[in-house]
Amino acid sequence: MRVYLDHNATTAVDPAVVDAMQPYFSEAYGNASSIHSAGQRARAAVDASRDSVGRLMGAKPSEIVFTSGGTEADNLAVFGLIESARAASSVRPHLITTAIEHHAVLNAAQYAAKKGIDVTFVPVSASGVVDAEKVRAAQRAETFLISVMHANNELGTIQPIEEIARIAAEADIYFHTDAVQSAGKLPLDVNKLGVDLLTLSGHKIYGPKGVGALYVRAGTPIVPQMFGGHHERDRRPGTENVPAIVGFGRSAELAAKHLTSEDESTRMAQLRDKLEHEILAAVPGTRVNGDPRRRVANTTNLTFDGIAGEAFVIALDLLGISVSTGAACSSGAIEPSHVLRAIGLTDDQAESSIRFSLGRATTATEIDYVISTVKATVERMRNLSPTHTTPASLR
Ligand code: PLP
Repeated sequence: MRVYLDHNATTAVDPAVVDAMQPYFSEAYGNASSIHSAGQRARAAVDASRDSVGRLMGAKPSEIVFTSGGTEADNLAVFGLIESARAASSVRPHLITTAIEHHAVLNAAQYAAKKGIDVTFVPVSASGVVDAEKVRAAQRAETFLISVMHANNELGTIQPIEEIARIAAEADIYFHTDAVQSAGKLPLDVNKLGVDLLTLSGHKIYGPKGVGALYVRAGTPIVPQMFGGHHERDRRPGTENVPAIVGFGRSAELAAKHLTSEDESTRMAQLRDKLEHEILAAVPGTRVNGDPRRRVANTTNLTFDGIAGEAFVIALDLLGISVSTGAACSSGAIEPSHVLRAIGLTDDQAESSIRFSLGRATTATEIDYVISTVKATVERMRNLSPTHTTPASLR
């Protein structure tokens, strides 16, 4: 049996999305900027996708900028606003973000700090939730942007976006949220959330990789970070990746449909909770990371005392189960996850933590298989490990 429980890393492209993309490779392959009919067909398809992506978040199509993915959209939000803050004033601009952002924001902010921007990384509680009052306390007269993610990719924890948006608006500060991990899992409405900028990625919502979008509220001054043609209303140049944009649009429509089905989100939460409760009950020395009451329905992150996470992931893979330790984007690097460290885990605990992220196709049979396989694998690893000492919690 193969069980894929790494949907926060990426998702399978939905067959309906593949079908929608298909004609735009070799049949309707026009350049969306060309004035002939082949170009106009591509343009119409891009425009229809812009409507669909906008609809998923309650935005106007004109406020959607297509990018090469979530990473580019996050960078455009951060650096696009830095440039406009610099153009508007000679004082050193100040950016507020958090310690648990995805690397696409975190490393952008760290680079900005090297380039002379003041950056505050607001810490989070042990439950993986940002305290809006700490964001308020970090504000300065020079703060031009606050960037706080909606749902965390490692823990699934949901951040108080509406509350932070109110704080930002009171102080006239632009507010960006990375909604890559909440799209398709939580209802998104840019007006209800109160954000000026919002990031989405195609491949986390059963769309293709290499395409994403930045929502830019009308009137938000972003300076483009690349230079070329007049695409995307002068905000992001480059010939549009029409098949990918079409696929992204279709995946946004499907995500909106899935969101309205209560059965689907209840089913996902029940399967996740079953997985979590039964592992906690069957495997001693196991703990949940992140506030269980404030999470997206598909994610659980567990620490297995005394287990080397990488070896565990490989052992499970050999038994047909795909999960991840730390964030997939940083695997390959042995660095313990910055998110798990930010919530107070030691390096050892962080390295013993595994993320299980369910998807639309996950079944109850798969979850039963994962529960029994995890239990057996942890027992085997703990018995075999020559360096294994029984953790205090198990003595
Ligand atoms: N933001 C978050 C929260 C993510 O989880 C990811 C992907 O892991 C990204 C941004 C980056 O998106 P992309 O892979 O489309 O560049």
